[in-house]
Amino acid sequence: MSDDCCEAGIDAGALEQRHRRVLVAVLAINVTTFVVMVAGAVMSGSSSLLSGTLDNLGDAMTYGLSLAVVGASPVTKARVAFFKGLLILGAALAVAVQIAWRLTSLETPVFESMGVAASLNLAANLVCLRLLYPVRKDDLNMESMWECSRNDIVDGLAVIVATVAVWLFDSAWPDVLIAMVLLVVFLKSATRVLRRATQEMRGAPT
Ligand SMILES: [Zn+2]
Repeated sequence: MSDDCCEAGIDAGALEQRHRRVLVAVLAINVTTFVVMVAGAVMSGSSSLLSGTLDNLGDAMTYGLSLAVVGASPVTKARVAFFKGLLILGAALAVAVQIAWRLTSLETPVFESMGVAASLNLAANLVCLRLLYPVRKDDLNMESMWECSRNDIVDGLAVIVATVAVWLFDSAWPDVLIAMVLLVVFLKSATRVLRRATQEMRGAPT
């Protein structure tokens, strides 16, 4: 699963105009997807939608903050990265609490609304790939966004698999299990972001 993806920041200051446009578009798509997925999770009672969309939140913050810190000192950038790490870790803990809460009274998610949100997520991800495809080899920033979007397809498919399995077995378990797997993968990457940011804060020239 998306192991080392979506962790690198983007040096937005170095972006050409057309690359910046791609960055803003992908950022907007991730924000929209996050909102749609949370709404879908609330409507359907699915946990895998929530776990799956943590990555959209993380990506949106990475891209948004990299636009915000253009020209800032390395230590400011490291602090911002650390702050972002804390935020996504907080979001991940909230999802963990939601999953634990689900386990106390296991209700099967409504697969129709789950399926709509999961499909929109995958479609949005494909649009990002389409936007990044022509520029994917232009520079390191575009390459890392391309890698990130490509890896996100795996998360997207995992949520689709959860939806199909919920429908097939008429059970909440596939949703809960896939939610847990996605959450663990996400937590691993979030702690790596925090560790790297801490190192950078220590090492960065002030
Ligand atoms: Zn991602």
